Amino acid sequence: MKLHELTIAQASGLLKNKEITSVELTRAILDRIEAVDGRVGAYLTVDADGAMAQAKAADQRLADGDAAPLTGIPLGIKDLICTQGLRTTCASKILENFIPPYDATVISRLKNAGAVIVGKLNMDEFAMGSTTEHSGFQVTRNPWNLDRIPGGSSGGSAAAVAADMCLGALGSDTGGSIRQPASHCGVVGIKPTYGRVSRFGLVAFASSLDQIGPLGKTVADCAIMLDAIAGHDPRDSTSVPEPVPTFSAIAENGLSDVVVGIPREYSSAHGLDPQVGAAVERAVKTIESLGARCIEVSLPHTDYAVAAYYVIAPSEASSNLARYDGVKYGFRDRTQTDLLQMYRSTRTQGFGPEVQRRIILGTYALSAGYYDAYYGKASQIRTLIKNDFQTAFASCDAIISPVAPTPAYPIGETLDDPLTMYLSDIFTLSANLAGIPGISVPCGFSDDGLPIGLQIMGRHFNESMLFQIARQFERAATLTDKKPLL
Ligand code: GLN
Repeated sequence: MKLHELTIAQASGLLKNKEITSVELTRAILDRIEAVDGRVGAYLTVDADGAMAQAKAADQRLADGDAAPLTGIPLGIKDLICTQGLRTTCASKILENFIPPYDATVISRLKNAGAVIVGKLNMDEFAMGSTTEHSGFQVTRNPWNLDRIPGGSSGGSAAAVAADMCLGALGSDTGGSIRQPASHCGVVGIKPTYGRVSRFGLVAFASSLDQIGPLGKTVADCAIMLDAIAGHDPRDSTSVPEPVPTFSAIAENGLSDVVVGIPREYSSAHGLDPQVGAAVERAVKTIESLGARCIEVSLPHTDYAVAAYYVIAPSEASSNLARYDGVKYGFRDRTQTDLLQMYRSTRTQGFGPEVQRRIILGTYALSAGYYDAYYGKASQIRTLIKNDFQTAFASCDAIISPVAPTPAYPIGETLDDPLTMYLSDIFTLSANLAGIPGISVPCGFSDDGLPIGLQIMGRHFNESMLFQIARQFERAATLTDKKPLL
């Protein structure tokens, strides 16, 4: 097996036994990026020198007997997580040359765990989108078919993991942005419970929904990464002081005591591709054969989820993005001498069309006289959706659904049709509205060879249950060894 094809768990074993070094592994990843990223376009910034220096330091730690599971492991980071001294753009022209003066908490935790940060990964600008076409800099292509989208907004993270350009990656998920690209690229991705992972140093999109999480080649690798980044952080008041189990240790249990809910409303959801429906049905059978009991549950307010999300997320975005005014940091149109003109021109040039659309929508929804009708109403629906899950989880331990209604579609297909793109978030954004965790794990391929993902959602802070089911399912489905031909 080639070094870049290793999983984190495999590489970690080889590093610990001194069969390989982190310098060799990191070199192999940089060579792989050199060889294939010209076609995929996953990285916005590759920090070759920094990565090699971190690899050398990791080898020293390994020589000193420090064999933490991430020591010496090359990872990629979505470009909206601050990395000290390393450009962080949010894939936006407005932050094109922004170099953060500090590390996000997740980055300092990864560094403390010995991980090697290879570079920063492409995304939809400020994480707004589901295709990674809305990047201010480049389109990322799906490694399984270069004419297709990789999904989004963490499309660079998913594509880089799928194409072996890092062993694992961090993404962020506000309405599906970890799970959906993971599904489209045939990798595993988990959105942890809201509050499980610190967001200090995550550039905010919609603060009541955003959550950081890992993408990996296997369920076990995601558990290893989540172990490193989870837990309370005094610098993020929304992070919760709940005890954090060792996820990588509990993923091996069987499923005989597990009850899985299948939402009635999801099978008739708008635009569900029959191939996706069939793959998920087969997955349910597999999970039953592993000992779980499957029952029908109801999430009656599903129909309102997309509408509620697309009021709440743009509203919060319009508020969060007010800080990009050309004064404090980022791009400024220096040709303007009048303050208001400078604001206007900076934001018009600095933000792309999708971000501008969200700001306009959100500003409208929050404006005097409309607040109750839009944001207020959407918040009430959000409570109903949260209650739906609470009721369902009274009779089951986890809920299973598709991740995306269709496999990855051709690049360009929804560029002029944002509504179709928004509607494709139907299965993922409810978990964000409710704050519950969700994982995407590969469950099959379409007739034309595109990956299909299965979503498993669980109770607040019960990521362990998701890892347990996903791990057993992954073992039974035996899809992990399938690789895109690049
Ligand atoms: N596709 C959704 C949106 O465009 C979700 C994005 C995300 O999770 N960051 O808002």
